[in-house]
Amino acid sequence: MPNPGDLAFDFRSDTVTQPTTAMKAAMTDAPLGDDVYREDPTTNALQEKIAQITGMEAALFFPTGSMANLAALMSHTRPGEILFAGANSHIKLYELGSYARVAGLSLIEVDDREGALDLNGLRRSWPTEAYYMARPGLVAVENTHNMLGGKVYPATELAKLRAFTNEKKAPLHLDGARIFNAAIALDRPVTDWTRHVDSIMISLSKGLGAPAGSVLAGSRGLVRTALRMRKLLGGGMRQTGVLAAAGLHALNHHLPLLKRDHARCRLAYEQIEGLSGFCVIPPETNILILETDGPRSAALVAYLAERGVKVSALDEKRVRIVFHMHISDAARDMLVALMRQWDGQA
Ligand SMILES: *Cc1c(COP(=O)(O)O)cnc(C)c1O
Repeated sequence: MPNPGDLAFDFRSDTVTQPTTAMKAAMTDAPLGDDVYREDPTTNALQEKIAQITGMEAALFFPTGSMANLAALMSHTRPGEILFAGANSHIKLYELGSYARVAGLSLIEVDDREGALDLNGLRRSWPTEAYYMARPGLVAVENTHNMLGGKVYPATELAKLRAFTNEKKAPLHLDGARIFNAAIALDRPVTDWTRHVDSIMISLSKGLGAPAGSVLAGSRGLVRTALRMRKLLGGGMRQTGVLAAAGLHALNHHLPLLKRDHARCRLAYEQIEGLSGFCVIPPETNILILETDGPRSAALVAYLAERGVKVSALDEKRVRIVFHMHISDAARDMLVALMRQWDGQA
């Protein structure tokens, strides 16, 4: 049985990753300055690198993805406007309703069961220009889609959505917390997606393995506004280069690791799909979602935990299993063996 705290057996999230020795060395050696004066050379270098990778004019470092998403919402809209976002999106489900509570937006949920937003549904829910209707503010999409098992947003679908938002003159924001998983899975550049949006948020603290940090990229004007919003939200930090250095190190060294995460996830899927007691969504990247036949997710999570394997329950029936850089082949084999036993007991 694995030791408690062994990261190789912790499938709860790709956020449990810890900085490697080489990453810590990069953090130690980073040249630093006061980022509120915009004088931190390492943070500036990270922002430039993200701007270049995304093909955007500028980028801005944030402590978290939630704050970066919120700052994007606030920068693109005015209070009282409408946010259109997926019914299963992180922005709707896991950011404490900050779009309403802080940004002053109302939400129109769009069907995102297929990962991509249902364009006909979005079209139908678009308000008329009558004076008593709230104004559209922003459309937000997610890639990869966390709750749908790391599903990749097809770039062709995003292009169609973009044509619609252009027609409506509405900005389009991409919650790209795991955009590199999408890019690596399809072996395509990030610009396949970013060319269709006005802004993107990217997490450095998930599969890339940095201890903290996310980046928002967009036009120079948007980033100028987002800088004010970040300060407003309490996110103006000082020598952020220690964190930015971890992000730069991750971009330079950890991207190829995502491919390995995807391969392990796919193999685990192939070895457990077809067992009775649950069904499993075919993974496109590093996230496996299982659905138990009855409301048994808590029982499955406890069964695995007692044997040293950590996964997380999303609700009564669904369990999320996430692959990251510390997961080993041995851990995957153990997960598969335990799932077979659990199936036998069902
Ligand atoms: C993790 C995540 C975020 C938010 O990032 P935090 O750094 O946890 O605030 C936003 N969107 C998606 C899809 C995520 O997975």
